[in-house]
Amino acid sequence: MTASSLPDLPCHLNGEFGTLATAKVSVMDRGFIFGDGVYEVVPVYAGRPFRFEEHMARLDRSCAEMRMANPKDRAGWRQLVAQLAEAYAQYAGKALEDTSQMVYLQLTRGVAMRDHAMPPGIEPTVFAFVNRLYIYPAEERAQGVACVTADDFRWKKAHIKSTSLAGAVLARQLSADEGANETIMFRDGFLSEGSSSNVWVVKDGVVLGPPRDNLVLQGIRYGVLEELCRLAGVPFELRRVSRDEVLAADEVLLSSATKEVIACTRLDGRPVGNGRPGPIYEQLFNGYQQAKRISP
Ligand code: PMP
Repeated sequence: MTASSLPDLPCHLNGEFGTLATAKVSVMDRGFIFGDGVYEVVPVYAGRPFRFEEHMARLDRSCAEMRMANPKDRAGWRQLVAQLAEAYAQYAGKALEDTSQMVYLQLTRGVAMRDHAMPPGIEPTVFAFVNRLYIYPAEERAQGVACVTADDFRWKKAHIKSTSLAGAVLARQLSADEGANETIMFRDGFLSEGSSSNVWVVKDGVVLGPPRDNLVLQGIRYGVLEELCRLAGVPFELRRVSRDEVLAADEVLLSSATKEVIACTRLDGRPVGNGRPGPIYEQLFNGYQQAKRISP
């Protein structure tokens, strides 16, 4: 695919609106040269960004870790997301209320001659685009998805939502090669996360997930699932989860902005639990759908 054959989806680059097919950045952009940037993916349902404040707080944390200034305040980002959501509805020829979208927001350190050290005084590059939010067909949800396991060979700053994603790309391809949906990674024998999702284990009615530390990206769904578990009276515990516990789980779940929450029903070719999405998945999925409607 060349740039000109990309879809005409709306995007924003440094204050200008355009389309994916025509927007251009400098070859010396540090995002291109070093992957020196941060990003967010915000789901927007019927024009309402979901958990927007949480996404913005994480963007601020990523910027702080990368020693980058965030060039926009919350109102500025909110306006940009609203403009892109509206532009997408027009692109799709639909009413905003009838669309679900993902808005991708990216900041790079900016343009400079190549030097690993951070050049002082450069302007960040602000890029954003919008696309439809992929909604898993009901049949696929009812089946659950297949995953494979792999060693977590990524760096030790997985908590930064960095555009340096070579590790995630290599990890994801291991499952793609097997026709599976996600790669579930383990560091020193303990669960970390998927290549682009968080992973949850259900055992004896308890939802278990890895601690919020530097080895995982703290997905916005950490907070959402914790809240949904509390509302449903399901115990929720964050602690180190061993590989054996994952392999012996009653249910394994994945969460992300685009997956929402989905059941992993096959792991390395073997069934998880009874091989079907379980009751905790059903409860959390239904709770999630409700949360989308009532609490942006
Ligand atoms: N971990 C990784 C490595 C990810 O890329 C993502 C998706 N951004 C997640 C977890 C899930 O985060 P969120 O719930 O905010 O989409």
